[in-house]
Amino acid sequence: MILVINCGSSSLKYQLLNMSNESVLAKGLCERIGIDGRLVHETDKGKHIADAAMPDHKAAIAIVLESLVHPEHGVISAIDEISAVGHRVVHGGEAFTKSALITDEIEAVLEACSDLAPLHNPPNLTGIRACKENMPGVPQVGVFDTAFHQTMPAKAYLYAIDYALYEKHKIRKYGFHGTSHMYVSEQAAKLMNKPYDQLKIITCHLGNGASVTAVSHGQSIDTSMGLTPLEGLAMGTRSGDLDPAVVPFLMDKEGLTGQQVSDLLNKQSGVFGLSGVSSDFRDLEAASNEGNERAKTALQVYAYRVAGYIGRYTACMNGVDAIVFTAGIGENDSKLREAICSYLTWFGVSLDLEKNAKRGQALDISTDDAKVRVLVIPTNEELVIARDTIKVLA
Ligand code: ADP
Repeated sequence: MILVINCGSSSLKYQLLNMSNESVLAKGLCERIGIDGRLVHETDKGKHIADAAMPDHKAAIAIVLESLVHPEHGVISAIDEISAVGHRVVHGGEAFTKSALITDEIEAVLEACSDLAPLHNPPNLTGIRACKENMPGVPQVGVFDTAFHQTMPAKAYLYAIDYALYEKHKIRKYGFHGTSHMYVSEQAAKLMNKPYDQLKIITCHLGNGASVTAVSHGQSIDTSMGLTPLEGLAMGTRSGDLDPAVVPFLMDKEGLTGQQVSDLLNKQSGVFGLSGVSSDFRDLEAASNEGNERAKTALQVYAYRVAGYIGRYTACMNGVDAIVFTAGIGENDSKLREAICSYLTWFGVSLDLEKNAKRGQALDISTDDAKVRVLVIPTNEELVIARDTIKVLA
């Protein structure tokens, strides 16, 4: 059994997988850690929801472990049935090109990467330490969102700023959602029945955070997120690309600090900021259908930006065989896929609207004669983390 942990600052998502057949035995979420604490635990037997004191992540992990062995809603008889824990780690900097067993040295490297991802890495580290304390001796593996993108060439990852700043502070593009981009591009090759290393694929991970990746011959060669997950697409609450001069301009005009502008661009922008309605695409579609012009414009900005990145990466790879949509919006929002693909007919994208309306399965949604295949593939980051955990320990 492998336990997969994805730790946020006040939340913790988990899945317990039986890797003999890759089935999910239990999954759940601890919310409001450090505030009060709530557990949602799901198994074949149903959903168990409980308020439970979670003063910190260590307490949250202890509650998760208790639930896994609980006489009623448990799925295993003893904790020692868990052979290892796989952790999602957001930022691995330049140090990690693949998943790694967490040792004291690796923890120190992760600590050093925290500078690059102040919102994400500290909670990830907290989760690792909480697991070590609750499950002494059980191996912990880190799986990095940045690792898949470490194959990017310098021409893609360097920002055009003084090279000394790259050397001194490691300011460069890293990219995120690597686990998802890797998984869905591999699945795309399988669905197309073609060798992964002979294809040019553009993967669009469109969830709360969103990024597009160019996967050429099985390797990430460029991706839309950057030093942090703020660059690239317009997202739920993140601005994505903008003129860097906007930052000092805002500081000056609104009397804000750098941190405040960063908060504004991360939490109050994107389709939420544009529409004033919501960051959830279901709310935006509903508002747009009711005639809300700002919601309509926000959806247009979103689709236009995704289409622009697909065009850019088609040029960067000198062609494209398949475009893949995944994550909450990519998998579910057929109208948005249609809007994005309407920009791409010139290079051979042609959607089958009936297939595009289907949901919940891996599917080729293009017409039979389309030159470029368009695929919807549900992502499964937890499965990749569990597989990698086993691979690292083998
Ligand atoms: P994350 O894992 O980054 O939190 P998800 O991949 O779960 O995010 O995506 C969440 C987003 O998916 C929601 O904000 C919502 O906008 C969108 N979403 C989910 N279901 C639908 C749907 N049926 N139609 C449109 N958008 C949807």
